[in-house]
Formats: sequence, structure tokens, C-alpha cells
Amino acid sequence: MKALVYTDTCEVTYRDEPPPIVRAGDVVMEVSAAAICGSDMHAYHGHDERRVPPLILGHEVSGIVQAGKYAGQRMVINPLMSCGLCHDCQSGRSNICQQRELIGMYLQGALAEQVSIAERNLLAIPQDMDPVHAALTEPTATALHAVALIERIAYRPLSEMRCLVIGGGAIGLLGALVLKAKGCSRIDLAETNELRRRSVEQQHCADAFNPVTDKAPHEGDYDVVLDCVGAPATRVASSSAVRPGGIISHVGLQNSGDGFDSRRITLQEITVLGNYCYTHADLTASIEMLYRQQLGNLDWVEVRPLSAGGQAFDDLHHGRVAAGKIVLQPDHLVH
Ligand SMILES: [Zn+2]
Ligand SMILES: [Zn+2]
Repeated sequence: MKALVYTDTCEVTYRDEPPPIVRAGDVVMEVSAAAICGSDMHAYHGHDERRVPPLILGHEVSGIVQAGKYAGQRMVINPLMSCGLCHDCQSGRSNICQQRELIGMYLQGALAEQVSIAERNLLAIPQDMDPVHAALTEPTATALHAVALIERIAYRPLSEMRCLVIGGGAIGLLGALVLKAKGCSRIDLAETNELRRRSVEQQHCADAFNPVTDKAPHEGDYDVVLDCVGAPATRVASSSAVRPGGIISHVGLQNSGDGFDSRRITLQEITVLGNYCYTHADLTASIEMLYRQQLGNLDWVEVRPLSAGGQAFDDLHHGRVAAGKIVLQPDHLVH
């Protein structure tokens, strides 16, 4: 099969690879669409010691199942494989299972013509759902999970809250779209890349500004701050943008280290929420929201052939992409 292989730092190679390894309980999926994630970019930059080349990246995928009880069905993958047996899995928090594995990390990923996955990690989708939209299920679920955790502790309905989203990549944009879908109408979004700011504005879900040149319009007065970058500078920005009693949701994983103002967090009772991935329920709800177009028409997604994946990584690396998300499709499916 053809695959896009991460072969070295800042290098991905489109080449022939053996068919995916099928472990007990796995089935092969013929990939229809697979998206490039920020975490794939992190690996590409050589910053993820868990993703070692040569490796097929990619975990945001939709396709057609080739064998087993779902043979022939269009489905999406829950790329996070948890044990199903531990305390966390059994209490509905499979996302923090200590035994979890992810495809495109230790296991072969989905930026290929085929991918292998545990049958129990397949999720049903409407059979007429656009496969490119279906490939957005996983990042949407990440944003939805973060918003769901906020809703659980929010002191007022989200529709009454003023929100700041930091970062206009896919998770930031989807975060703003989910907040809007939940009735939130006052959303600002901080993004340094002008092309991305423009594509956020086109979705009419948030007012975008450049945090390098401008302060957040309502500095110190945000009920909710969603940090979709997760760097020291954005933690500093989150700490000062949030209002007393507000909530900071830390979603991004750019790098660890300091940034939070622990004194302000304590004195002003600010809640800091960590969010990691999603549960089965978040994925199912995301499929529904994407299918019903509750997150807009999704025309900010750019589709390219798998063979042009190297250029896509390079364009993302150089900030030349307005799209919040690039989805790659096997060449025979791109017209
Ligand atoms: Zn992802
Ligand atoms: Zn577990």
C-alpha cells in the first residue's frame, strides 16, 4: 500500500509500505480520509519522543471496514485504545487509562491507504456522511470534551459567558464553533497567523485578534479561557485574561513548564482544568454535531491527495496554510 512515512525530522516520504500489521482483535480499514493533527506536526518537528521514525503518522480517520462484523461499513476510528478493565476505564474515563495506546504513535497510523485498528474502537457514522467531515470527529471530540468539562463546573450557563480561545488551529477553531453551538455569543480568539485569523473570521464564530500586537479586548474579564496552545506564554496570557472566579481550560500540549500565576489562581479562586482527548460519548456526540452541520459548513478544511502530503507538512510548518485542518485522501479518491 501507499503511505506517508515520517522518515526523519522535518521529512515525510510517500512510498510503498507493507500492509498494516493485524493483531488479535484488529480489523483493516480502507482509509477514505485522514487529517494531519497538531500532534503529528509536533512529531514531524522531532519534538515527540513517543513518535520515532520511521512511522506512519495520523489518527484522525474515516474509512471503510474490510473484515469482521462491520465489513463494508463506513466508520470512524477511536484512535485511543484503552484497556477497558482498569478503574478509570470502568468509571467512564477511558481517556486517562494508564494502559492507553494511540495509533500513529507506537502503532502505525492512518496517513496511508489502509490502517489496522481494534474492532471495538470502530464508531458507526451515517452512511451518507461526507468522509472528510467524518475524519474531523477526533479533533471535534477533543474540543467538545474540553467544553463538556467546563459546563460541568460552570457557575452560569455558557450562553451568558464571555470566552477567550487562545490558538486558531483546528482545536481552537472547533472550540469556538462548539461554544457558539452551545449558545455562547461573546467569543474572542487569539491567533498570531494572519491567514488563520481570516479563516476564523469567515466562520463568524469569534472575533479574532493578534495577541502579539493587541491585548485581549476584555483582558481580565473572561469567564472562560480555552488555551489550545499550551505554552508558557499562553499560560501567562490565560492567567491574566480570566476574570476572578473564572475557568481556564488547558487543552494544548505544546510544551510543559511554568506560566500560570498561582497566586492569582488562589486569591481569585480561578479553576484550572486539564483536558486530555475524549471519551466514547464525546466521539459519538461529535459525529452527530458534524453530521447535522451544527458546527457550520466546515469549508475551512482543505483536502489534498496523500501523495502531496510532504508539501502539506511543509506548508503547515511554514505557516502558509489558511485552513485550520488539512485532510489527505488516497489519490484514487481525490477528484
Ligand atoms: Zn488529533
Ligand atoms: Zn484502562
